[in-house]
Amino acid sequence: MVNRIAILGSTGSIGKNAVSVIEALGDDYCVTALTANSSVEVLAHQARRLGVKYAGITDARYTDRLAQLLEGSGVEILSGPDCLVQIAGMDCVDTILTAVVGSVGLKGVLEGARAGKRLAIANKEPLVVAGHLLTETARRSGAQIIPVDSEHSAIFQAMQAGTKDEVDKIILTSSGGPFRNYTEEEMAKAGISDALNHPKWDMGPKISIDSATMMNKALEVIEARWLFDMPVDKIDVLIHPEAIIHSLVEFVDGSVIAQMGAPDMCLPIQYAITYPQRVKGIAGRIDFARLGQMNFASPNTDVFKSLRLCFEVASAPDSAAAVFNAANEAAVELFLAGSIGFTDIVDLVEDTLESHSPAADLELEELIEYDRWAREKVFHQDCKKHRSYAG
Ligand code: NDP
Ligand code: MG
Repeated sequence: MVNRIAILGSTGSIGKNAVSVIEALGDDYCVTALTANSSVEVLAHQARRLGVKYAGITDARYTDRLAQLLEGSGVEILSGPDCLVQIAGMDCVDTILTAVVGSVGLKGVLEGARAGKRLAIANKEPLVVAGHLLTETARRSGAQIIPVDSEHSAIFQAMQAGTKDEVDKIILTSSGGPFRNYTEEEMAKAGISDALNHPKWDMGPKISIDSATMMNKALEVIEARWLFDMPVDKIDVLIHPEAIIHSLVEFVDGSVIAQMGAPDMCLPIQYAITYPQRVKGIAGRIDFARLGQMNFASPNTDVFKSLRLCFEVASAPDSAAAVFNAANEAAVELFLAGSIGFTDIVDLVEDTLESHSPAADLELEELIEYDRWAREKVFHQDCKKHRSYAG
């Protein structure tokens, strides 16, 4: 049977890689639906090339332009933020690859979970905000969640060497980002282009900034907790600048299973789609002799305090993670707009967490309300206090 795939966020870094991966997989896989926020030209090109049934544009102002570009193609257009939910629930979709950026992807992935689809999840923020709701909904419907994030794909693969009860520790690796060896003073002076310049991965702007603040790893700790149903005291972070080992699982007997691969998202994207099969694909290979050596170190949590905050957040009631994520999304937006300095990002997240009283047992709408509250709090902070860098 042909596996019919929807890519939510097909015009981004993960989305474009996913299109290439699926095209190379051949006739057993086809793309039935795609979405973008505003990149209409790319979306229309992909939709025609792949011959999809549906193209969704979440920013409705671009609907007319998309209609012009797709005239005569037979592609049905959906528009507005709800198109993610509509597509996720469609009978003609078997697998949903979630590649939009931010917690805005939450309702779509929840609908996919409710409808019992295979969820290939790259979009980590919804798992951070509503991990409990998402995993519980998937458990009830039988929806399969397969991680695309390279570290979580590695853990998912390494876990197959034992049972969950035999796992002693999950070790998430991190390249350390562009500021791995920076002091706090050096980081305070970092500009937008420095922060976007990741040494190992070519990614969208939001996750690139998250990698520079190590917020990406912080979000991944919470993501791992939900994906693998692990207490956070069994999750560690390890700096590994070469980005060859994508993460490790340590079992109770002391055995450590690592998954390795070239730093290329095509591999985890493909594995999430073809699992449990492994097939020949387009991902790069490692030349170990050329690589020569691999290095490891502990992260500096005094400089990268996001890595300290995430463990506090993960041990607090649910709303804390929603606030942590949303405050970060808002602060990254401000940084990318040139309104705040680099180290202000995590300072703003910390301030927002401090002014929040965490609450448990929350429904979706309540989590969304905490998300909205945290964003407003960040946008309305006294900017003068945070202007250590002027752009
Ligand atoms: P990009 O910014 O490159 O792409 C984001 C995609 O989401 C685009 O298709 C974009 O459309 C769409 N989008 C943007 N805003 C909205 C919105 N408000 N509503 C709906 N869709 C929207 O991001 P990445 O591909 O880098 O990352 C995507 C997700 O995957 C993130 O959650 C990230 O953390 C995760 N991830 C990414 C990795 C990577 O290597 N890039 C690795 C591991 C995880 P448009 O083009 O029209 O703006
Ligand atoms: Mg990752």
